[in-house]
Amino acid sequence: MKVRLPTMIQDPLTSRYKGMRLQESFYITQEPFFLDGPVTMRLAVVDFDPETGARVPGARFVPPAGDRTVGYYALANPYDIYAPDFIQVNAFSTVLKTLYMFEEADTLGRPVAWAFGAPQLLIVPRAGEWANAFYERDSHSLQFFYFDAGGGRIYTALSRDIVAHEASHAILDGIAPDLYNACTPQSLALHEAIADLTALLMAFSSHSLRRVVLEQTGGSIRDSTAFSAVAEEFGRALDPAGRIGYLRSLLDPVTMDQVPRSEPHALSVVLSAGLYQVMVRLHEWLKQRYVRETGKPELSVSGRALGIGTRWFKSLIFRALDYLPPGEVTFADYGRAVLAADQALFPDNDLLREWMRQEFIRRRIVSSSAQLAVETDFEHPALLDADLQTLAESDWAAYFFANEHRDLFGAPMNVPLRVRPRLDVTKRYYFREGSRDVRELIFKVSWDHYEPSGLGRPFPAQRQITMGATLAVDWETRRVRARLVSQHGQQEQSDRDELLDRLASAGLLLPGAYALGFDGKPLRAAVRAEIMSDELMRVRRTANLLHLIPEG
Ligand SMILES: [Zn+2]
Repeated sequence: MKVRLPTMIQDPLTSRYKGMRLQESFYITQEPFFLDGPVTMRLAVVDFDPETGARVPGARFVPPAGDRTVGYYALANPYDIYAPDFIQVNAFSTVLKTLYMFEEADTLGRPVAWAFGAPQLLIVPRAGEWANAFYERDSHSLQFFYFDAGGGRIYTALSRDIVAHEASHAILDGIAPDLYNACTPQSLALHEAIADLTALLMAFSSHSLRRVVLEQTGGSIRDSTAFSAVAEEFGRALDPAGRIGYLRSLLDPVTMDQVPRSEPHALSVVLSAGLYQVMVRLHEWLKQRYVRETGKPELSVSGRALGIGTRWFKSLIFRALDYLPPGEVTFADYGRAVLAADQALFPDNDLLREWMRQEFIRRRIVSSSAQLAVETDFEHPALLDADLQTLAESDWAAYFFANEHRDLFGAPMNVPLRVRPRLDVTKRYYFREGSRDVRELIFKVSWDHYEPSGLGRPFPAQRQITMGATLAVDWETRRVRARLVSQHGQQEQSDRDELLDRLASAGLLLPGAYALGFDGKPLRAAVRAEIMSDELMRVRRTANLLHLIPEG
């Protein structure tokens, strides 16, 4: 069934001052059913009346009938973007579009499951009055708030940047669930950086926005805030003097030594802005190539270069997420995963990998390119006669195999191993001549690591964290396409100390049951230190720090 959905191109304010249309249409065919709400197999909009708090009926679905082959949601006035039914449908369509961007064959090549183990992610488009928005695993939901500023009401659910950003927290939680409980600040910052880059890729994927912005900038994304500013309207409303203008800028030249090492939002900009520079160079390079090939002026090839460049960049930054080792990760772990994904994509063209290395060094994420070395494309005797189908399907067989071949996973000899659900993915690779599908087995193994908690009473003296390894195996050739093993040193440990110390001092890190409310549910603002014994703790729900506007 084909269905047409409206979606905001940017946000109400930004669209107006750029002289663009407010919304564009988006057609989908792959959902098994649609219900009023909107509700589908994996998403459900739950709307409440801001005055009474009562549940509001959701937008009504009109299926195709007679000569009309396209279904749609009936809106009282499709041009009134502030009407409750439009806000419901827009939040829904933007989340769905974001989800598809991750799952496409030229990206992850697999459906993403939610981390909370239930079929539907709930979308609350008018969660209450507050200048904020967040994803919350415990309530299976995305919560979008609204607030009054400058004589008007700002709905975060009407900002494509904000909805795509929060949706990607939920999606990333399904891909790398350990990050939600991580206490390495860079693990949380990675969540934030991916969410901002997803908002950017949504902007690049809009034909209307691409055309208007490239015309206004003479075909360059080098210094266009239309693409590089995340959540413009929201930022302006919070700071009417316009000093901020947006919440975060991907043009920020900031380096690791210029931000507090334990503040995830500030840290995230080092990574996201660094990757944006790689995207800028890719766009410039593709433009020059198309100018040479076609003889056309730069402006006229800039749209095509951005379309192709976006596809390339998107497949790298999202595929790298499947390659991350389980547990705590650093920006360098993520950088290695991007390099491995690019190596698989273009084994003979080192250009983008070189830009990545330069940017990671310039931003002081690593001090030399040797720290970004990653093992790709090699043979291991254990895999040559392994039954990959059985390894994919049987936890027991997978555990037995991993335990038997610890060297293959880079796992220590004396620790108990845990195997994660294996992934069977089929990714599409594009070449000049066409495309080719490659089937990969993604096999993750994790183990516990112990270190001093760095905290005084009432916290235990030791903390337990998760480390691990990811192996990506080519189903056909049995060669290892990438191996990524957690690499943590003294610096990462002291970063964790700093984060937990800051949270404990602010009263945000609470031991055991203190992090629960009277109703037994986790307190919204708290990060929980689970007390495992007198001497041992483990931190949970640090991702609470990732609200659009952080608390504490
Ligand atoms: Zn966020």
